[in-house]
Amino acid sequence: MTEDLSRPAWHAFERGQVLSMLKSGAEGLTQAEADARLRQIGPNVFERTPPASIRKILVQQFRSVVVGLLIVAILIAVLTGDVPDALAIGAVLLLNVSIGFITELRAHRAMEALLALEVPRAWVVRDGSTREIDARELVPGDVILVEAGQSVPADARLLECAELRTTEASLTGESLPVDKRSDPLEPDAPLPDRANMLYKTTALVAGRGRAVVTATGMATEVGKIGRLTAAVRETQTPLERRLDLLGHRLAGVALSVAVVVAALGLVQGAPLAELLQAAIALAVAAVPEGLPVVGTIAMAVGVRRMARRRALVRHLPVVETLGSATVICTDKTGTLTAGSMTLSVIQLYDGATPIPETSFAPSPDVALALRIAVLANRAELVESQGEWKPQGDPTEAAVLVAARKAGLDYRALRQDWLEIGELPFSSERMYMATFHRTPQGPVACVKGAPGRLVPWSTRALTREGPRVLDDAGRNRLLELNRELAGRGHRVLAVAMKQTDGITEEDLRGLTWVGYLGLSDPPAPGVQATIRSFQEAGIRTVMLTGDQQLTAESVARDLGLLASGAAGLDGRELDRLSDDDLSQAVGQTVVYSRVSPEAKLRIVSAYQAREDIVAMLGDGVNDAAALRKADIGVAMGLRGTDLAKEAADVILADDRFATIAVAVEQGRIIFDNIRKFVFYLFSCNLAELIVMLGAGLVGFPVPLLPLQILWLNLVTDTFPALVLAVEPGEPGVMQQPPRDPRAAILDAELMRATVLYGVLIAACALGAFAWGLSGPGGGTPRASTLAFLTLAFAQIFHLGNARSAGPVLSVRRALSNPLALAAVALALALQLLAVEYPPIAEVLRVRPPDPWDWIVAIALGLVPAVAGQTVKAARAMHREPSRRAAGSSGR
Ligand code: ADP
Ligand code: MG
Repeated sequence: MTEDLSRPAWHAFERGQVLSMLKSGAEGLTQAEADARLRQIGPNVFERTPPASIRKILVQQFRSVVVGLLIVAILIAVLTGDVPDALAIGAVLLLNVSIGFITELRAHRAMEALLALEVPRAWVVRDGSTREIDARELVPGDVILVEAGQSVPADARLLECAELRTTEASLTGESLPVDKRSDPLEPDAPLPDRANMLYKTTALVAGRGRAVVTATGMATEVGKIGRLTAAVRETQTPLERRLDLLGHRLAGVALSVAVVVAALGLVQGAPLAELLQAAIALAVAAVPEGLPVVGTIAMAVGVRRMARRRALVRHLPVVETLGSATVICTDKTGTLTAGSMTLSVIQLYDGATPIPETSFAPSPDVALALRIAVLANRAELVESQGEWKPQGDPTEAAVLVAARKAGLDYRALRQDWLEIGELPFSSERMYMATFHRTPQGPVACVKGAPGRLVPWSTRALTREGPRVLDDAGRNRLLELNRELAGRGHRVLAVAMKQTDGITEEDLRGLTWVGYLGLSDPPAPGVQATIRSFQEAGIRTVMLTGDQQLTAESVARDLGLLASGAAGLDGRELDRLSDDDLSQAVGQTVVYSRVSPEAKLRIVSAYQAREDIVAMLGDGVNDAAALRKADIGVAMGLRGTDLAKEAADVILADDRFATIAVAVEQGRIIFDNIRKFVFYLFSCNLAELIVMLGAGLVGFPVPLLPLQILWLNLVTDTFPALVLAVEPGEPGVMQQPPRDPRAAILDAELMRATVLYGVLIAACALGAFAWGLSGPGGGTPRASTLAFLTLAFAQIFHLGNARSAGPVLSVRRALSNPLALAAVALALALQLLAVEYPPIAEVLRVRPPDPWDWIVAIALGLVPAVAGQTVKAARAMHREPSRRAAGSSGR
């Protein structure tokens, strides 16, 4: 394999050589040098992925049935020599396409902006100290620290690593993890075998390491092959596809009706041109022009509302699943709890030492427990602006804070006992160990779950010195653990052993030193959110690595677990078959000591029961379950890169309550689409019935194709668009989740659609009949009347659609100013259509006289008044029983 000269085979050199070739050192670059390099080679980013091509979006607009029908209509108008009609329809066609194009483009841009919000971070050593920076500022020569959960921020050569593993699917397509090491390799090792290299965008799934950056941005291996991530994944969601399908069906029905009508007319001997016109009018009447567009707008609006309230959607199709969520699986630490861990008690064999708020003088044994916990520990306290800020795992940071209170300098302790090896923490391992050279010989320091470490302990440290652990002693340790956990403490055991081995096998025969009791208060607002989920028919269940007693105690505090009820422990869970687990999850709300595999199984078990599962997580150990869940939700602040990449939604503020916002918006989006479909379909149906009904009764053709197009565009599609931004019903979160398989147009909505369609049509036909009869009666006048009445009826009918449930109160009516504006504008345009001669002429309507106005307005108000009256009556009927059930809290 030949390497070009500007790209040395980094993997083949010794560490020192690599560093000097990159003009760097073990202590990294200086900030000044890094700045200079950044200026010279540019930021560590991939060149922008091309934004969704404008041409593609435009072409898409022409691929709709509506546009097809309009084009046919234009052709027919041209063929029958009706040039003004052809031009007018052409104008409508252009308008239609531009509305679709603009909205879709805006929705696209909004999504791209959301993706750009994700800024990866990197740990870098500069000027000799470690700091967190924006990964875009990395330059070759930077020394970086990496750990499990990160996505590799740049191509880098490893300097040292411990149990480091990556998955490199984004580069090589291989999804199995690769073990990493730091020593030199053969120069001709192919890329997938270069175990001492890290490649940008690959995932660190275990361990830790230190590496020097060799390439950034487009110069990285992934940059070179151009397989870039972070593209907008899908543009059309299943819901949009379903809306499209619905539109196609309706268009199909309209076309068949049109054909039948035309055929009947032909048999009766009507002139062909007139028949064709009627057929086109019919087809155009029935096609819901705005249908595909509104799905897009409703989602874009919802996604923007969510983003404003800190829930960032990464994957558009999840929006419609959100509203259907039935179970929320969440981890405990930092999600339900504040995650600001404090070490509140150190339990020794024969006595407990509470850790005070301020400083205290530790006994020698307490000091030893702290020393072990400080050594088997990766956190740091970093001074910034006179304050000590903990960095790293909150559990470990809490230990450092306690050590400071005890007057112990953790850096001095770490220098005192030099580290020579480690077994890093992982969720599967549930403990961590470090190995040290001490003046008294080699020592292992261990800290981790009591369930792991107590069985390996053969001795315990007591006031009288170490004693051999007999059954009584072991029972005492278990009892102490139960006691701490029962009070809601997260319990970690600390233990040590004199050994020169550095593997897991060398940890048998530990000396138990003490327990650390950590407390983590419930996060503010969590209880209220859990309650609101209950009202919304969504179950919250807790998954945690902590032991059962701790988990249950916290769950009880949060109101998750009724007192007396129990949870399911990881050990038990592992013994259950998948079927038994599906049975068990129905009753379980707390899962303790769960491994990553167990999380995955739990999610699948709920899914097997047809639950729609939202999974909240932040760690590497959550990534698989996040991906498996119907809705993966990752923490934005504390979440690891891998969790975020696996998630569909990111909570930018890490607050549990934010997921409720997302669910609520998900429900509102769907509600609004239903309102839209109801409104649009009832209006289109009305137009269809007017055309068919007139034919059946033997009236002349009531509406011309252009008039119907006008009605469709100005007085129904246009006002309908504002339904996409409706604020939502007050009770959305007091209803059970929507069945994801239920049709958009279900039986109830279908009935309402038909009822209103018939009512609106009846009013328009009434006006038509009135216009035909009496003095001055005739088709032109009747046609104008039907046209006006339909327009008014449709515009006022918007109120019926806006409040799907209760009657439209003044406050609700005002809650969507856009709707009011749309109604006003539609009315104004309608006035223009009949009173402004240039338009009136094209539309072939004549100015109505005062009586015509009165009739059209009075009949046009009928559907709205009828609808609101029925709703008011229903609300009154329902209100007392609702109050009794106590569900209307406000
Ligand atoms: P969770 O954070 O939800 O408790 P984890 O998988 O991170 O789940 O932890 C599993 C268990 O491992 C914990 O209950 C605790 O006993 C132990 N543990 C957690 N963090 C550490 C750590 N930093 N060092 C040692 N042991 C730990
Ligand atoms: Mg953890």
